[in-house]
Amino acid sequence: MTETPHDPKLAAATDIIFNCPFCNKSLAIDLRGAGLMVTCPDCGRDVQVPAPAPGDTLEEVPTPPMTVSAEALAAAHTKIERLVDSLEEIRERRRYLEHLRTENMARFQQIGGEVEVIQNSLDRIVGLLQAAAADEKKSGEPPPES
Ligand SMILES: [Zn+2]
Repeated sequence: MTETPHDPKLAAATDIIFNCPFCNKSLAIDLRGAGLMVTCPDCGRDVQVPAPAPGDTLEEVPTPPMTVSAEALAAAHTKIERLVDSLEEIRERRRYLEHLRTENMARFQQIGGEVEVIQNSLDRIVGLLQAAAADEKKSGEPPPES
């Protein structure tokens, strides 16, 4: 139990800081000493340690940061694992889509080839029809005018 005079700036967060009511010396004592009678090291009188003021020392007791960090770290790790899973899924989907695209490209090229064949046939048919129409104009009588 600390009864020695204390620099408040150096006191632990779990200490009660109070002044001796007799000599006004600044004293610090562990929180567990609240309500106890202690002897002032300066004036030698018995002093009762006050209860810590609410919102003073008690709420300043820091939560162990390592525990918080470990939990946050674990949560982050879980999130990262999920993201990696999602990324792998996306990559697989992309691979599948690229495979489909390649397959479709081959199919489209094939269809394009067939369309070209049809187009060439149509061109030939149109040419034949135009030739037939020209022959008919030459040999046939001009259409009667009304
Ligand atoms: Zn004193």
